[in-house]
Amino acid sequence: MEKPVLIREDGLRHDGRKPGELRPIRMEVGVLKNSDGSAIVEYGGTKVIAAVYGPRETYPKHLILPDRAIIRCRYHMSPFSTSERKSPAPSRREIELSKVIREALEAVVFTELFPRTTIDIFIEVLQADGGTRTAGLTAASLALADAGIPMRDLVAGVAVGKVDGVLVLDIDEVEDEYGEADMPVGYAAGIDEIVLLQLNGVMTKDEVLEGIKLAKKGAEHIYKVMKETLYKKYLKALES
Ligand code: ADP
Repeated sequence: MEKPVLIREDGLRHDGRKPGELRPIRMEVGVLKNSDGSAIVEYGGTKVIAAVYGPRETYPKHLILPDRAIIRCRYHMSPFSTSERKSPAPSRREIELSKVIREALEAVVFTELFPRTTIDIFIEVLQADGGTRTAGLTAASLALADAGIPMRDLVAGVAVGKVDGVLVLDIDEVEDEYGEADMPVGYAAGIDEIVLLQLNGVMTKDEVLEGIKLAKKGAEHIYKVMKETLYKKYLKALES
């Protein structure tokens, strides 16, 4: 396909958003009855579900850590999540994303409260339209909160990109594919800590700093929606 116009003459993006605008967000917790915690998160056309099990007994036993819980994380794209069927076998990309999401969450979970146990996080991409790792991180953080696992803070993920020379928030698949750079960020707004930061492509130092500012602004909004989503569930539980 020929490269589409990413920034139109009126300054808006190919889907009509302003550079600093997020896609419509939807989220819900407690969506799976068999897990200890779960969440579904949508950023525009990207739909991701996360399930958390634990803290539970660690198997195999040699993996046990005497002073804290281990966190295991599997990020997976379902075969029907992409326009062409994706092989269900874990790719190198999925192995990398599982690791960076796990490390981001290890920064906020109080693992020392649950020695010898395991916390399992499963992230399943149902529909991919850019930003699946960041939506996955948001969903996993919500699912951990839904499971009642103590954390220093919630983490909101969002990617910033550079398209046609312009920094834009929450890039979609077209912007990811045809843009110059993509910088996913995981931000714990309450404690003001960045727990995930990656960069694909090339940006100047100033663009990176500007991009981080933009990502923090977007993540702060997502963080608010996450809190509201959790409150809503507990209010509902109190009412019934
Ligand atoms: P992220 O989803 O976190 O932005 P990438 O930058 O690696 O991660 O991928 C960007 C987008 O490219 C994905 O959201 C998805 O829409 C698409 N994509 C990634 N992997 C595949 C794949 N194997 N087949 C088809 N599309 C893919």
